[in-house]
Amino acid sequence: MRFPFLDLAKVNEPYVEELAEAAGRVIRSGRYIGGEENDALEAELGAILSAPYIIGVSNGLDALRLILRAYVEMGVFRKGGEVIYPANTYIASVLAISDAGLVPVAVDIDEHTMNIDSSLIEAAVTPRTCAIMTVHLYGRVAWDDILVDVARRHGLKIIEDCAQALGARTLASGLHDSHHAGALGDAAGVSFYPTKNVGALGDAGAVVTHDSELATTVRALANYGSDRRYHNIYCGFNCRLDPIQAAMLRVKLPHLADENADRFARALAYQRTIEHPSVILPAMSREVTDHVWHQYVIRVPAGSRDNFRKFLEEKGVGTDIHYAVPPHRQPCYASLTHEPLPVTDRIADEIVSLPIATGTSVADAAEIGRIINSLDF
Ligand SMILES: *Cc1c(COP(=O)(O)O)cnc(C)c1O
Repeated sequence: MRFPFLDLAKVNEPYVEELAEAAGRVIRSGRYIGGEENDALEAELGAILSAPYIIGVSNGLDALRLILRAYVEMGVFRKGGEVIYPANTYIASVLAISDAGLVPVAVDIDEHTMNIDSSLIEAAVTPRTCAIMTVHLYGRVAWDDILVDVARRHGLKIIEDCAQALGARTLASGLHDSHHAGALGDAAGVSFYPTKNVGALGDAGAVVTHDSELATTVRALANYGSDRRYHNIYCGFNCRLDPIQAAMLRVKLPHLADENADRFARALAYQRTIEHPSVILPAMSREVTDHVWHQYVIRVPAGSRDNFRKFLEEKGVGTDIHYAVPPHRQPCYASLTHEPLPVTDRIADEIVSLPIATGTSVADAAEIGRIINSLDF
């Protein structure tokens, strides 16, 4: 394949020596659970996001599960409470909600941003609603004054699924004095899954919050529910971050801004090159910081998508779909009722993700764009 969709070895190639050195440091330290690497990573991430409390955890799904479970344990959410989420998301956002004994309530998306349509949120609020989970999908910040206003008037927590948007910023005001995705709302889940903008060499994640009680509760829940050794206040889990992954992430985190700038340059190359009557490009706003291009997602007519992908494959271009089947149509949520979700249902058959990670150069993106222009599909 001339232009693979994603080559993780290429993504980590620039860091191989530093990663090996950091792994050696952990191996020689004899400290394999918790410790200095985790403390340092948490401090470094907190400094980047301007957020006071960071808890390194096992993965992004666990980060979100722990936040929701902690609010239940704290008595802020009642079991059976409803959490509003955007219908176009990865299943993990929704699994976190149902795992905590809460009810996921899907809201449709805006066709241009492909994120939650904030004008539809208020109609989904009921007396049982306890939170809005906003998802910065594909790396685009999903946050505006309408969302904040609805949450404030109805007393709802705002939880960010920041798995795809580390490093994104918005000019809009958050609830606190940070403009960084992940530090805008009451709490956020971050994922360091290997494909994310900052990827570990395995599973890893983090909880970000401005709420000290939530931070304490999450830390206890992630460590068997114990607040001190052999004293368990919750029926908790083991969701800790491995220090070896913390050490890997400490090598890569300082390069986040540069890596995101590279992603933007590739997105811009696509944007400038692709002009095909059957292709709809993602919206690109003037505010360049509000999207970190975790995915570059175009749309083609639903009936032509298979051909489009097949023709690209023949030309050596790998593609993917994020996500072909939205969570509300997955078998595990068959019993969950929801309002009609026409935009999400329609775009699910139209979306195609193009290569955007390290390994795809700006010149490659322009070449892929020209190949797309030449296709008759
Ligand atoms: C990756 C991802 C998650 C889950 O993160 P993991 O670390 O893979 O558990 C959650 N939400 C979204 C939107 C994601 O892309």
